[in-house]
Amino acid sequence: QEADLVDLVEQAADAFRVTHADHPLTLAPGPGTLTLRLDPQRIRQVLDNLLTNAAMHTPAGTEVSVAVSLTGGAAQIRIADAGPGIPPADRQRVFDRFYRVDKARSRDRGGSGLGLAVAQSLVRAHGGHIDLTSEPGATVFTVTIPLTVGALTKS
Ligand code: ATP
Ligand code: MG
Repeated sequence: QEADLVDLVEQAADAFRVTHADHPLTLAPGPGTLTLRLDPQRIRQVLDNLLTNAAMHTPAGTEVSVAVSLTGGAAQIRIADAGPGIPPADRQRVFDRFYRVDKARSRDRGGSGLGLAVAQSLVRAHGGHIDLTSEPGATVFTVTIPLTVGALTKS
């Protein structure tokens, strides 16, 4: 089915501002609408997983930002936080089931280590992928969803 990705991101951002009021969220200006072929509930789950991580794995007060863009035949959603980051050795493994960087601390925070594995498989089911870059103060998850010819409107 088709859905407006900008709408979905705005809904996820609104929910985040309620459930994670201790993390200021900035939604960057972007296209007004970006309609493409996707499963809105599943992509919303991806957004929620990534946004929850940006709050759960960073100290209170850490800034979180979201941006939607259209680049090179794909829609991109960028979810960034200014938290401590993910060490290089862990960056591939965080997408593995049950993998947590700091097991003791993550358990305190209630994580099971499944969120990113689920998010990655949902995005792959849309023919897309998730990229990660991280350094202290700048962790960025980028979700790329390819556009299907004939299924796109933008304004
Ligand atoms: P769940 O999502 O199942 O509740 P979780 O958040 O621990 O648990 P994932 O979402 O798969 O599991 O994330 C795996 C690990 O990656 C986390 O435990 C954490 O160590 C690390 N991580 C994920 N996102 C961030 C982030 N934005 N900043 C720092 N570390 C992160
Ligand atoms: Mg998680």
